[in-house]
Amino acid sequence: MIGKQKICVGILAAGMSLGAAGIVMAQNGPGLPVSPAPVATISNASSTTALGQEALGWLAELIKINTTNPPGNEEAAAKYIAGILQKEGISSEILPLAAGRSALVARLKHAAIADPSRALLLVAHMDVVGVDKSKWTVDPFGATIKDGYLYGRGTVDDKGMLAANLAAFVALKRTGARLNRDVIFLATCDEEAFGDSSIKALIAKNWDKFAAGFAINEGGVVIAKDGKVQYTAVQASEKVTYNVDVVARGTSGHASIPLKDNAVLHLATALEKIGNYSAPVHLTAVTRRYFEGVASLQDDELGKWVRSLDTPDRGEHAARVISDANPAWSAMLRDTISPTMLSAGVRANVIPAEARATLNIRLLPGDTISVLLAELNKVVNDPQVKFEIQTNAGLAAPTSSLENDFYSAIMKAAAQEFGGAPVLPYQSTWGTDSAQLRLHNVQAYGLVPFPLTEDDLKRMHGNDERIPVAAFAKGVALMVRIVNEFAASR
Ligand SMILES: [Zn+2]
Repeated sequence: MIGKQKICVGILAAGMSLGAAGIVMAQNGPGLPVSPAPVATISNASSTTALGQEALGWLAELIKINTTNPPGNEEAAAKYIAGILQKEGISSEILPLAAGRSALVARLKHAAIADPSRALLLVAHMDVVGVDKSKWTVDPFGATIKDGYLYGRGTVDDKGMLAANLAAFVALKRTGARLNRDVIFLATCDEEAFGDSSIKALIAKNWDKFAAGFAINEGGVVIAKDGKVQYTAVQASEKVTYNVDVVARGTSGHASIPLKDNAVLHLATALEKIGNYSAPVHLTAVTRRYFEGVASLQDDELGKWVRSLDTPDRGEHAARVISDANPAWSAMLRDTISPTMLSAGVRANVIPAEARATLNIRLLPGDTISVLLAELNKVVNDPQVKFEIQTNAGLAAPTSSLENDFYSAIMKAAAQEFGGAPVLPYQSTWGTDSAQLRLHNVQAYGLVPFPLTEDDLKRMHGNDERIPVAAFAKGVALMVRIVNEFAASR
């Protein structure tokens, strides 16, 4: 994955074992029907399927526009989208950020005077990560359709959602739906590298053009197994990334005379202690609801422990059991530390004065790096070892509410689209652009709306990235439902 801290939608379900049977309705909270209910006309099966087909064509064209970042070249994709919108009679604006790099914004207005606090923002990024062409079985930018899949870099991350957002947006215009709020379509740049053309720069320059109270972005997942949706995970918050160097210093000298204060040895000892350290479990409002929902999907034994997680007497043991069962769950429950880089020495026969390791740390929302490092200092307990925080930390953003109308609309639409499969809030271990939006008071939610298997998800940023054609159509239908549910008056 490219980028020091920006990691796109990752594998939610790594190591998960969900019983295929026993899928039950989520605890949807008060007043949230999950039974099929009438939705606006564009959600009816035939027109949605036609729209899905059309959007698949857009997706294929977007795949063929190589927006590998760097350099990005997102402007070509922005111009292609502008052309589609123009044909629909929707004006859009290209927002230049750097040479060849431009975002695109378009708006469907509900009233002459905009009320940004009510507006809904559909956001997706146009750039993609690089490819190792030699490891692909098809041209990564050829948009090959094979065995029911569309192959290509960006099919899942994030051009699929870009095309699905576009479809939902265009459908609103075509049906002449009466809007109860502005709906804004935004295609962004530089998500994968989070450089000078990222959403941060876009907000700084053009916030007034897409300011909104609500947003939907990548960041969540719809997990499919054996042809069925198991559950939809809607990202409402994310962990915060820090990179911290552990630096051991000692006396340099000739390697023929070993020294007790050898920096390499002190670093190795420190890393072993850090590796054995496990930060305390802390359930947030989001993870509490997530585990409540996921408990019902587990086989009896694991489900029992998931249900015990939030109890005073058995919680601690339960956290151990489920953390051992699933590293992704372990990471959702606590601050985590992964050593990722090592450096020391310049000659085989010289004891170096310094040895250094980089730790990639992911804090739970609300936790602070100084508290964790104070704890690690105690654990390491070595005056030769110091911690240095790198300046490229992620942003601590507020969690989006699980109680507002937009979150309810997403839950209702997803349950309807996926046969009543549970819809759970999700706190991602990865970072997304939504942190930037949440810092601007946007209630932002993450969802890659396509039902995908673990295998399909693993290909993201990897080789032979692909999306099942049927899953893409489902995702388009879901986005149409969500937008209609929340932004169209009935
Ligand atoms: Zn992405």
